[in-house]
Amino acid sequence: LVQLAMPLNFMGMIYREIKQALIDIDDMFRILDQNPEIADKPGAPPLRVPRGTVRFEDVRFAYIPSRPILKGVSFEVPAGQTVAIVGPSGAGKSTLSRLLFRFYEPQGGRILIDGQDISAIRQDALRAAIGMVPQDTVLFNDTIGYNIRYGRWEASEAEVREAARSAQIDRFIESLPEGYDTPVGERGLKLSGGEKQRVAIARTILKGPPILVLDEATSALDSFTERDIQTALDRVSQGRTTLVIAHRLSTVVNADAILVLDHGRIVERGDHTTLLARNGVYAALWNRQRQEDAAREALARVEETD
Ligand code: ADP
Ligand code: MG
Repeated sequence: LVQLAMPLNFMGMIYREIKQALIDIDDMFRILDQNPEIADKPGAPPLRVPRGTVRFEDVRFAYIPSRPILKGVSFEVPAGQTVAIVGPSGAGKSTLSRLLFRFYEPQGGRILIDGQDISAIRQDALRAAIGMVPQDTVLFNDTIGYNIRYGRWEASEAEVREAARSAQIDRFIESLPEGYDTPVGERGLKLSGGEKQRVAIARTILKGPPILVLDEATSALDSFTERDIQTALDRVSQGRTTLVIAHRLSTVVNADAILVLDHGRIVERGDHTTLLARNGVYAALWNRQRQEDAAREALARVEETD
C-alpha cells in the first residue's frame, strides 16, 4: 500500500477498502491516524542516515490541548544501540513512536536523526529509514511470501527465505502445503499471534532499515514462542538503532539504556542494574512483573498436574 500522498477525498474510499482487505497495522496508522496537516515543506531534502542516531530534545506533545501527554521528553538513542521505554499503560510510549514517524508533530522541542530535524525532511525518506514491528500485525489477504516481500518488493526469492530464516518462521512456512505460496488471512490460513509477529519481523529484516521501532506484544504468548520471537528480535536489532517499547523483562535487561516514562516525563533512566539499585519506579515495575510471572508459572504447574 503506497498511497501515502493520496488526496484527502480518497480517504473514505481507502477506509472502506481497509475494512474489506486485511491490512498491516502500521499502514492503518499511516492512513487513519495520520494528520493530513503534516505536509512536506517545499523542496524538503531527503534524509541522510550515515549513522542512525535518534535524538528527542525537550519534546512536548498533546493530542488535545487541555491534556498534555509528553511534557518535555529528552533522550538519545546512540547509533546501533537499543533503548527500552517502559512505563504504565497510557504513559505516552506509543506516542513517542508516532512522533518519530511524524504521524504527528511535537508542539515543542524537536526530533533529530543524525542531526537532521525530522520536521524539515521528506516524509517518504523518513519512513523508509524506519522499520516498525507493531504489537499486533494484521496480514494482507495474499500469500505468506507476498506478506514478507512487502518489506522490499525487489527482493529475490533467496532473500525472502533468508529473512524468514532470521525471523525463525522459515520451518513453519516450509511445512505448509504450498510453502511461500500459501494464502494467509481471512480467506486463507489463520496464523497465531506469534507467527504473525514473526512475519512482520521477516518483512522488517527484508526492508533492512537503519532504525527500528519495536512495540512488543503485551498479550501472553507462551514462553516458547516468546523466546523464539525474542531471538528473532535480537537478530533484527543487531547493529541497528532500536527503540523498543518493552514489556518483556528479557528486552529490558539487555537494553543499553532504559527510560521510565510516567505522566509525560522520563522519571528514571539508566541500565537495568542501576535502576534496580535505585529502588524507585523501575524497581517497583520489575518486582511486580516478577510476581506476576511467578504466579503464572505456579498456575501453569497446577494445570499440568491436573
Ligand atoms: P502507551 O503506549 O504508553 O500506553 P499512548 O502513547 O498510546 O500510551 O497514549 C498516551 C495517552 O494519549 C493515552 O492516555 C491515550 O488515551 C492518549 N491518546 C492516544 N492516542 C490519542 C488520540 N489519537 N487522540 C487523543 N488521545 C490519544
Ligand atoms: Mg502503547
